Amino acid sequence: MKLPKCFQCLSIFTATFFLSATASAEEYETQASHVHGVASLFIVQEGNELEVELTSPAMNLLGFEHSPGNEQQRRQVSRVSAQLHNVNQVVVFSGGQCQLLEVDIEMPAMDVDHHTDHADHSESGHSDVEVEYEFSCQKPETITALEVKLFEQFPALEEVDVQWIVNGQQGGKTLSPSDSRLELQ
Ligand SMILES: [Zn+2]
Repeated sequence: MKLPKCFQCLSIFTATFFLSATASAEEYETQASHVHGVASLFIVQEGNELEVELTSPAMNLLGFEHSPGNEQQRRQVSRVSAQLHNVNQVVVFSGGQCQLLEVDIEMPAMDVDHHTDHADHSESGHSDVEVEYEFSCQKPETITALEVKLFEQFPALEEVDVQWIVNGQQGGKTLSPSDSRLELQ
């Protein structure tokens, strides 16, 4: 029975090694773009499909980046989750006749049901919130602009870096509370 035991040891070692390597890569990726006060928005339209992806340090939206420790923080998580589900409080498009199909919100640090050290937060204690919105647009060719509404809801947010590809055009712009509108043509 010596040989199978060795194989088992080897596979456990290998699995552990790959798991920690993956976690480090993800942590690095998260940390590289994690700046409090700044969020990023990716907007990609192709045919009738329009996708909006928001990534923000949890601090900007929730005011903390750890698992909710009391009732007040749990209520804050629910409140922010509801706000983010309401896309009109996040981003509003001019033209396009776009209808929201799906919202997917990921708050890793808030996922108390699947608590693991890696998913919870990185070693530095930072965590991001990621939200994906999927729209279907009846007249995508008439999309002309977007207005970021997040600043009104979340005063801790100072900048949103927007990258967009719409109707074959692309661009990027940093929006702020005093300059929250972006022309998409
Ligand atoms: Zn942070």
